Amino acid sequence: MTEQQTQQRIDENWQFVQQQVRETLLDCGRGPDSVRIIGVSKYVDETLTRALTSAGCRELGESRPQLMWQKSQAMQDVTPLSWHMIGHLQRNKVRRSLRCKPMIHSVDSERVLSAIAKEAVLQNICINVLLEVNISGDEAKTGFLPDTLESVLEPRKRSGIEICGLMAMAGWGTDRTAARKQFEKTRELRDRLQLATGNPLPELSMGMSGDYQDAIRAGSTMVRIGSSLFDGVIERK
Ligand SMILES: *Cc1c(COP(=O)(O)O)cnc(C)c1O
Repeated sequence: MTEQQTQQRIDENWQFVQQQVRETLLDCGRGPDSVRIIGVSKYVDETLTRALTSAGCRELGESRPQLMWQKSQAMQDVTPLSWHMIGHLQRNKVRRSLRCKPMIHSVDSERVLSAIAKEAVLQNICINVLLEVNISGDEAKTGFLPDTLESVLEPRKRSGIEICGLMAMAGWGTDRTAARKQFEKTRELRDRLQLATGNPLPELSMGMSGDYQDAIRAGSTMVRIGSSLFDGVIERK
């Protein structure tokens, strides 16, 4: 594939996903701008990541901190551009990661939450975070168990961070019906937590290439799309 063909294919993929998102929103009576598409660039190098930004995607998700550091450093000429950390973040990677001023979707323990808050105060910034919830209850999955979230939200206001909502993934190998139920459960949990704690939680990060339309129907406000955007350009993961 030539560079031009690659760009064209990524342009088409980006247009297609946007179209699917718009149609789904229309279909379920939600506003056309009520979902943001986070382009997950974790499968590709800087060149293809740039191609995605050229197609129009200006919010990128990475699951490995080091790759986010490298790409954000290398792509400072691309503006506007914002970063989303969607994979597990170890405390010793918090400091460097905050320099990219990412939204962090994958906060999965009180310890990492406190570390982010502390470092953000030191850097004099405020970081938007989401609490990752283990909605399927899989032992192997990361994230807070639903019952533990109320106490995490108890200190109403913490310096350095703003808890904006929840992130969830459907469990491994769940069929479509089960996945849909898990998305619904996440939204209900969010609604309950808002009421119980008085903490507004407007964001729900749910939905990937295989299930984003169901996630949007359940109330997702951010979909994290990787493979669909690189269809025909890289091996499908
Ligand atoms: C890789 C990844 C995605 C994107 O998955 P696709 O199925 O390729 O769209 C979304 N969320 C998280 C947390 C991921 O690690």
